[in-house]
Amino acid sequence: MSHKPLQPGDSGMSKVLIIEDEVTLANNLADKLRGEGFTVVTSADGEDGLEKVRAEHPDLIVLDIMLPGLDGLSLCRMVRRDAATAHIPIIMLTARGTEVDKIVGLESGADDYVVKPFALGEFLARVRAVMRRAPGRPVLQDELVSNDLQVSLTGRKVFKGGEEVKLSNKEFDLLTELMRNRGVVLSRDLILTKVWGYDYFVDKRTVDVHIRWLREKLEQDASNPRRIVTVRGVGYRFEG
Ligand code: CA
Repeated sequence: MSHKPLQPGDSGMSKVLIIEDEVTLANNLADKLRGEGFTVVTSADGEDGLEKVRAEHPDLIVLDIMLPGLDGLSLCRMVRRDAATAHIPIIMLTARGTEVDKIVGLESGADDYVVKPFALGEFLARVRAVMRRAPGRPVLQDELVSNDLQVSLTGRKVFKGGEEVKLSNKEFDLLTELMRNRGVVLSRDLILTKVWGYDYFVDKRTVDVHIRWLREKLEQDASNPRRIVTVRGVGYRFEG
C-alpha cells in the first residue's frame, strides 16, 4: 500500500478516473475530457476501478452505479472510508428513475450525479463545478484509530489501550485493510487480492487463520469477537 503524499499538480494536469462498463460512453467521456486538457484513466469493472482509485490518485472519479465486480455505491463508500482517498470528488452516473432516490437515500458520499442519458456539455459543466468545489488534497493521514485501537501506518505499529501489540506483516496489512473499510463486508477473495496480491496462490483458509490470530491479539474475547466480525458465507467486517 502506497502512502506517498501527492501534491496538487504533480502530474501537471488534473487526472480523471472513469469507472463505467459501457465502453462507448466511457470512451466518449474520456475523449471529451482529454480535449479539455484532463488526463484520463478508465476502468470497466468495480474491483479494478477501486484498485485504480488507490494506484492512480485521481483528482476526480466519474462512477457508474451498475458495474460488474463491485457496484458503484459500495465502491463510493469504500473510497470515502479510506483516509487516503476520502477527499477525492465523485460524480455518479445513474440510470433514469429510482436510482437517483437511492443515492440520496443512501448518502453514499458522491459529490454530484448525472442522470443518463446526458449531454456531454452538461457533464463537463458538472465536472468543472465539482473540481472547483473540491478542497486541495489534505495531508495524508498517518493514523487509523478505533476505540482503544491505534495504528500508525508509516511506523507499522499497533497499540491497544496504549500498549504496543506485535503483529506480523500480513496481520498488519489485513488489519489496516479491514479498518480502512470499516463497516463494509470484505469477501475472502477481496482480502486475498488486497493483502496477498493477485498472483500469489494462497488458500482462502489463510484469511481465516490470520483473522483468528488478529482476534487473539486484539479482541477482549476472541471467541466472541466485537471488532472483527464474521459475516456468514460472505467474509469479514471491521466494526470498531
Ligand atoms: Ca453500467
